[in-house]
Amino acid sequence: MRNTLLENAFRFAHEGIVITDEHQKIVDINEATQHITGYSRSELIGSNPKFLSAESQNKILNQTILQSLHRNGFWQGEVSNKRKDGSHYIARLSVKRIHAFNKLFYLVHLSDVTADRKYRAILSDLILNRNSHQILNKNQLENDFGQMSSMADQNNEKLVVAFMDLDEFKTINDIHGKAVADNLLDQVPNRVKTVLAETDCIVRYGGDEFVLIIGGIKNDAIASQTIQRVLSTIASPFIVNEVPMMITASIGYTLYPDDKGSLDTLIRHADQCMYKAKLDGKSTLFAYDPGEEEQITERNQQLREIATAIQEDQFVLFFQPKVTLSTGHIFGFEALIRWQHPEKGLLTPDRFIDQVYDTELEVSLGQWVIQKAIKQLSQWQQAGHKYQLSINLTAYHLSTSDFFDWLQFQIKQYPELDTSRFQIEILESNRLSDLSLINNVVEFCKSEFGITTALDDFGTGYSSLTHIRVLPVDVVKVDQSFVRRMLTEPEDCKIVEGVIALAQSFNIQVIAEGVESIAHGEVLLAMGCNQAQGYALARPMPIEQLMTFLSAYQPFSQWCAQSGLLKNHKQARLSLFYFYLKHWIHQLQERLFAEPEIKTEWPITQLADSHCGIWLEKARYHHYLDNTTLDQISHYHQYIFHSGNDLLASYLAGDIHASRAGYNALETTFKTTLAELHSLIRRMSE
Ligand code: C2E
Ligand code: MG
Ligand code: MG
Repeated sequence: MRNTLLENAFRFAHEGIVITDEHQKIVDINEATQHITGYSRSELIGSNPKFLSAESQNKILNQTILQSLHRNGFWQGEVSNKRKDGSHYIARLSVKRIHAFNKLFYLVHLSDVTADRKYRAILSDLILNRNSHQILNKNQLENDFGQMSSMADQNNEKLVVAFMDLDEFKTINDIHGKAVADNLLDQVPNRVKTVLAETDCIVRYGGDEFVLIIGGIKNDAIASQTIQRVLSTIASPFIVNEVPMMITASIGYTLYPDDKGSLDTLIRHADQCMYKAKLDGKSTLFAYDPGEEEQITERNQQLREIATAIQEDQFVLFFQPKVTLSTGHIFGFEALIRWQHPEKGLLTPDRFIDQVYDTELEVSLGQWVIQKAIKQLSQWQQAGHKYQLSINLTAYHLSTSDFFDWLQFQIKQYPELDTSRFQIEILESNRLSDLSLINNVVEFCKSEFGITTALDDFGTGYSSLTHIRVLPVDVVKVDQSFVRRMLTEPEDCKIVEGVIALAQSFNIQVIAEGVESIAHGEVLLAMGCNQAQGYALARPMPIEQLMTFLSAYQPFSQWCAQSGLLKNHKQARLSLFYFYLKHWIHQLQERLFAEPEIKTEWPITQLADSHCGIWLEKARYHHYLDNTTLDQISHYHQYIFHSGNDLLASYLAGDIHASRAGYNALETTFKTTLAELHSLIRRMSE
């Protein structure tokens, strides 16, 4: 009996139901599936349910569905599709992996939501066009506005033009009927007039909407207080047929003459703000900001300029070298966009890149970069260079549906290209909304072309930690803001050290950007990061300068020499202390010898807060080294620190000459102490 019931439930369900075996071959369907797809039962049984996403030649979507099923046993979403007769429909799919009779099956529920989507589109059209409703007394309203605005001009006052919509009014209509609702609506203008001046006006604009024009407004605060009064009076109960009824309203408003334009324009602005008031939780007010509109116009103007700049090829790529610290070998470059603006000159991305985000130009600009970079890489390869070239792409661009197909097409234009030298740096990873989609793009790039990927600006996004776990990226780029400050801010230093350790534990390469000095490189090497990019080596440069730079390039001996100090874990840890101390002495010297008006970083003067102090505390806690060695190191530290602080104190007291002489006298001792520490580290490899 139960089986018969289930059988009928299956057959007559309103939703399409499809069951496939583990190879995704259809084993059963119900009648609704035939109605929705237009295919007969015999055409479907035994086939592969490609029809479920016939239109999505989109490999990535199919891949996403499969991956989600594999991982979570479930996928749900909407796909655009074709029926057998070629007509389009939108299907809502939910696919579930199930186990039965010791076998694996997939259960697909399929609903045709085309009508629903069309209905929603019509509804939103209606909402957008609501201003086209005729107002019966529009002429009167125009006249009133004309008189009130001239009066306001004469008195140097402002006018409020407000748009009021009653909240949840439909419920009153539904529960109490139209007659009661109309009665209530009729009472609203009189009620509102009790808190307005006699010359102010309120008219019904359509449905439960009203327009108010209020004069005698001296400033913004009075405007808002007046609107508040209207809201409060609406909130006291209305009596209809002796029954009390509670309603609230949402009001948007704008101020004449701050907001210029016809009455229609002002009403439109007030109406837009009324929507914002509704979004703010209803029963509230929202004021129009004329500056905002100007900003939007300005932004549109800038976007048009950027679109023209793409067409007219005004953008250029600059290249910044990346180095392996321990060998000094330059293994590749990051391509960074610049705008050669016809009037403003060369612009860096901070002047324009944010504006293109969330617009279609984000993709156009990304495509321009890819095309230029691939061409450059191919030219290098033809000239026998094996450099890696990385480009920056936004997560949004990567997740566009045709990203992979488009990339594939571009790459096909260069049959000889070794794409394993191409790298994509994923930007704005905190905007990575659809991780499984990005995941597939990253995997496709790797499996089809050997293209590697890096998570850029790591440490700044909200969910970087999830991304390093979920995405099969090859490289993590420690954000330059942390790296740049790491020698002066111990907190940033901790982040850099933490990110390096994190990358190591995931077996992912790590590169630091923002390496501005030799000391940065020394500390990074001791922390276990062997790749770097930054001003210490070179700033981003145009292609014409690249060859000159490379032919004059000399690796930094300090970085290359360091490999002797990093043979084991203990050595690496202690050399970190050594470089912290060396850098502290360097800062001390710079401060004492710089002219007082020149600002150089002030060394940290609290022992426990300094890089070395923090290192020592951690070393004792984790027993990095035996206590005798740690005591000896601590002794070196305290000696240098206290002598240095004394010199700083006399410098601060204005005795600059004495502080400098003191430093000169101590310099040899400082150097000897550092040398002793150095030889201690060397001995550790024996
Ligand atoms: P990013 O991808 O993190 O690039 C590194 C930025 O750090 C570059 O700035 C580079 O010049 C700068 N930098 C490198 N080393 C140092 C250093 O030692 N000190 C300092 N102070 N800065 C250093 P740039 O070229 O101005 O680019 C800024 C950002 O603009 C990039 O950050 C990236 O987010 C974006 N960007 C650059 N090119 C493109 C592009 O082609 N497409 C997109 N969508 N964004 C791009
Ligand atoms: Mg980058
Ligand atoms: Mg970065």
